[in-house]
Amino acid sequence: MASKVALARSAGYRSGSVYASLEKLLLPLGGLGKFVKRGDSVLLKPNMLTAAPPESAVTTHPEVVKALAEMVIDIGGKPFIADSPALKSFDKVAEVSGMRAVAKRLGIPCFALGNSVDRKTGDEKMFKILEVSREALEADCIINLPKLKTHSMMLLTLAVKNMFGCVVGKRKAQWHLTAGLDRYYFAKMVVEVYDLLSPKLNIIDGILGMEGDGPGSSGKPVETSILAASGDGIALDRVMLSLLGVSPKNLLTNVVAGEIGAGETDIDKINIEGDTVSSLRPDSFLLPELEDMVPARGYAAKFIKKILKDQLVSRPLEDRSLCTLCGECVDICPTAVIKNEDKELEFDYNACIRCYCCVEICPEGAMKLYKPILAKVVSSI
Ligand code: SF4
Ligand code: SF4
Repeated sequence: MASKVALARSAGYRSGSVYASLEKLLLPLGGLGKFVKRGDSVLLKPNMLTAAPPESAVTTHPEVVKALAEMVIDIGGKPFIADSPALKSFDKVAEVSGMRAVAKRLGIPCFALGNSVDRKTGDEKMFKILEVSREALEADCIINLPKLKTHSMMLLTLAVKNMFGCVVGKRKAQWHLTAGLDRYYFAKMVVEVYDLLSPKLNIIDGILGMEGDGPGSSGKPVETSILAASGDGIALDRVMLSLLGVSPKNLLTNVVAGEIGAGETDIDKINIEGDTVSSLRPDSFLLPELEDMVPARGYAAKFIKKILKDQLVSRPLEDRSLCTLCGECVDICPTAVIKNEDKELEFDYNACIRCYCCVEICPEGAMKLYKPILAKVVSSI
């Protein structure tokens, strides 16, 4: 059966209006009852990257999570809110993002995905065993609730990337280390995590999206007024690429998903319901500049990249006027190449794998990307 993606225009986060917009959005997909059954334990998996308030667009808006939780309760399901923030304590993230207040109000659990277990994937997979959260694996139903955001390493973070949050805590940074500079390899890991967990429903909160140097505080909140949903997160991401005017080859998770047949990536084979792509397309949407959009395959490509890394790939550097020396970037760095030295940060760029976890995590938006001169010349040709 063809994958279906539903789109709806939705402005603002007023409590009743989000509920109504979600009901309208899900109608063409058969309503929430098509995905959730009475008695199901339902993991609501928002993006809870770090402790940032809803208006910063770093995390899924709590009103979206609240409305979904209410809908699940109405059906007789048992919702719980959970994620595994990259660094900050879950309690702090839950508090600041508004998730704790939602959970309290509805009397539902809200906790950190904590138990990491090995799960065999398949002989055809690149990663034969993946380590993901037990709670996510054991839920009867996962509703994936990503935020529409840009991503300095992967271009965009949408439905597929959001499930990477089910890799527990600092294991995420270690996976970055395993992938190194190879975005293709990292994309494959992300798609295989998505495929393993197979959320039953994916709903993108793009009412307030993020453009620029996302996905952390360096990105810029922008009113995009979009809600989008599908049982097929890969098809959903593919439709979002069309909506944002992004070439499908530029989102590596989409490329990888197409190669391994994890979901529908052919836009002509996706049924789009509700509002049209063209009616929701923003006038402008600023993407991060990625220098290396070519998948690294083969030893020659990897070798050349390693040699040219310093000349062609942006390097992270703190803006001292914004940096509070909180040390979060130091803690998250998978290669431990940032040192907090005498009131300023020092970087070992030779060992930096350009994963940009430091940019993602910085609560002040102080960690910026600086493009080398050669990269500027190349991109202007
Ligand atoms: S760059 Fe950001 S994360 Fe790093 S120490 Fe400064 S404020 Fe903290
Ligand atoms: S310095 Fe930043 S970009 Fe480089 S490896 Fe560490 S976290 Fe990744």
